[in-house]
Amino acid sequence: MSIAILSTGTELLKGTILNTNAGFLCRRLAAAGLRPVLELTAGDHPAEITAALGDALRAADTVLITGGLGPTRDDLTLDAVSRFFGLELEIDPLLAEKVEQFWSRRHDGRRAPKTVLRQARVPHGATILPNANGSASGIRIDTEYGGRMRRIFLLPGPPAELEPMAEESVIPAVAAYEAGAGHEYTQGFLAAGCGEYSVQLRLEKLLRDRPVELAYCARPEGTRVFVSGSAPAEVEAAVEEARTELGDAALPAGSLDLVTAIAALLEKRQLTLVTAESCTGGRIAGMLTDHAGISSVFKGGAVVYSNELKHTLLGVPEELLARFGAVSAECAEAMVCGATERLAADCAVAVTGIAGPGGGTPEKPVGLVYIAAKVGEELRVGEFHFSGDRRRVRESTAARALLLLFGLLSGKEGQTFLPPPQKSLRPEER
Ligand code: ATP
Ligand code: MG
Repeated sequence: MSIAILSTGTELLKGTILNTNAGFLCRRLAAAGLRPVLELTAGDHPAEITAALGDALRAADTVLITGGLGPTRDDLTLDAVSRFFGLELEIDPLLAEKVEQFWSRRHDGRRAPKTVLRQARVPHGATILPNANGSASGIRIDTEYGGRMRRIFLLPGPPAELEPMAEESVIPAVAAYEAGAGHEYTQGFLAAGCGEYSVQLRLEKLLRDRPVELAYCARPEGTRVFVSGSAPAEVEAAVEEARTELGDAALPAGSLDLVTAIAALLEKRQLTLVTAESCTGGRIAGMLTDHAGISSVFKGGAVVYSNELKHTLLGVPEELLARFGAVSAECAEAMVCGATERLAADCAVAVTGIAGPGGGTPEKPVGLVYIAAKVGEELRVGEFHFSGDRRRVRESTAARALLLLFGLLSGKEGQTFLPPPQKSLRPEER
């Protein structure tokens, strides 16, 4: 009673294609309380597929295989798997008709070449899983192997075909097979602004005697904490204990990202938000708009890379830019104020900094970033020094801007969880 996932595709091993199918299947299984014991990838060669299938069957009774069901020469999964179990491949007449129709609709009514009809082959005794989004059907093989019943699912590679098929024909069936197996229940939350090591230090001892397993996932905006166990009540109790320990840093149970939390706070307080971005070039707006439904609170933003646009779009005074430079606390503050005024919103975040690799000076090195956040009349400006390459600096800037805004919105700023900016510049201090 265990599950393995076997992805096939030489392109996956070369890194040309990112294996999103395995992730998708794992997530859908996890939602059903199931966790695979093994996940592996094989190239498009019968020997590699056969070897990997042998490994998968040593570890698991149910194997979900993806890719290589199409009509081209590199589509060898069906042949390799059938040969492995000693099953004859037979043309299914209904499937052949479907493949013919699929082909002729796309090729001016012409008949399908013989190689395309390969997709109508089904191993003897296997079940066809309908594919509403492509011509290669999925296949389920129930067979004895090594003295036990095994269930093998062959699924198409293209995610648009695999995902609906998995939802309809695979996950429910696997959940039914595994009904007696020990289910795993997982709940997670974001520890905003916290590093993974410090989170582990605080939680590991606290939850040592509870029947749960902890996992951590470091993110630029904090650490995602996952608690899993077989009893939902135990997991929930452990999550609550962990959240209490982490105090204000802990987002509500089930809340894994900051944008969702920010959206909820803006919604609750009926506030609107705009962004003013220099070195992040719209990244913060992009992160906000990844959240479906953000339009009720997020109005948009300005990407003001040049001094000219900082002045014309946001009204940052030219004298200020000349005196302090674009990368300055004064400029960040003028940007955030200009954004709320000119773009008519209650709240704003603004960032300006040097992402590198060029453009740094001894006084203003690469990684120096000023971030300002404004919620109503409350304003905060911070100076930060981020390390890493251009991508890292921009990522850290966007995450820290969202953290600053979150702290201000939730009234939790200044509390332990926000790593303080190297220099916190409040208006009254200048
Ligand atoms: P086709 O009929 O398109 O050949 P197939 O079932 O034979 O389908 P593959 O040939 O293995 O599947 O893959 C087809 C395409 O599907 C790949 O080029 C890739 O774009 C996508 N794909 C395959 N496997 C994966 C995967 N594991 N993750 C994400 N995308 C994938
Ligand atoms: Mg293919």
